[in-house]
Amino acid sequence: MKTRITAAVILATFGLGASFLSHANDPVWDGNIVELISEELQPDVFAYYPDDAKVLEKLGKPVATSGGFIIGNDGVLLIDTMLNKRLNNQVQELIRNETDKPILFAVNTSFHGDHSYGNMYLPDNTTIIQHSVTKAYIDQHFQADTEFMIQNFGQGRGIEEIRPVTGDILVTPGSAVSVDLGGKRVDIIDFGFAQTGGDLFVWEPDAKVLWTGNPIITVKPSLPWLLDGHLLETLESIKKVYEFLPDDAQIVPGHGSVMEKGDIQWHIDYLETVKSEVQEAIDEGLTLEQTVERVKMPEFGGYALFGWVHPGLNVPAAYKDLSQ
Ligand SMILES: [Zn+2]
Repeated sequence: MKTRITAAVILATFGLGASFLSHANDPVWDGNIVELISEELQPDVFAYYPDDAKVLEKLGKPVATSGGFIIGNDGVLLIDTMLNKRLNNQVQELIRNETDKPILFAVNTSFHGDHSYGNMYLPDNTTIIQHSVTKAYIDQHFQADTEFMIQNFGQGRGIEEIRPVTGDILVTPGSAVSVDLGGKRVDIIDFGFAQTGGDLFVWEPDAKVLWTGNPIITVKPSLPWLLDGHLLETLESIKKVYEFLPDDAQIVPGHGSVMEKGDIQWHIDYLETVKSEVQEAIDEGLTLEQTVERVKMPEFGGYALFGWVHPGLNVPAAYKDLSQ
């Protein structure tokens, strides 16, 4: 049985203060300002991402949430529903620019609010697809989750008005669900624990496009956020995703523009290096604090959030996994 720790608890545990705000009251990205654009990757297969994604991701700066939509003969499948009403409306408008067909399905790649809070703004007849772990998390922790998100994304960003909307179709651990949009099949796959334990990847096999959600933030120099621990399982799951992909696949990450399969290798290399360096420290009998002090890995330091995710989340997650 996997233990789950909320992000708020982990942040408190490691004494990092309340949040990853860059400056007091300044969210890492602002849900009142972000503008989303869409890109057609293959006929009727679209990514959406922030209009500043390509600039910010190369600089290692945080990018707002990405997702996409797929249009079949009968209707549309939407991947991720965004943080608030404003951004969900933008996504629905991007869909309406391409088709009048109904939004039949919406997938949440995780419970994280920037991927799921917009569920409540979808048409009543849209079927929501979630992982069973995601539904359980929302059922049990919704209020604490919105408080954490307001702390990190700011007040007055529409989070106060969010009500929980959970899945109509649930993907169970280790399984996959396929839906038919009319001439287009879409697979929604659990590759294993990848950040939250309720992580869904969306695969369109004809177009060879994969949506990853947060387990792949974006291209180098971004890094995984092991908010809920589990370095070893996360590494295994990301390697599984890599092996699953054909070489010419296109990948839409959780927070950036479209990537190639090869871009995932950076994330695997990082997690492998954390694993081996932390193992070495444990073998020498170092404490967690000494290990955090030792395992600095400056070669991965280009990410703007490195000072938070590496010593605060990822090294401690590895230490916990490897000392068990
Ligand atoms: Zn996210």
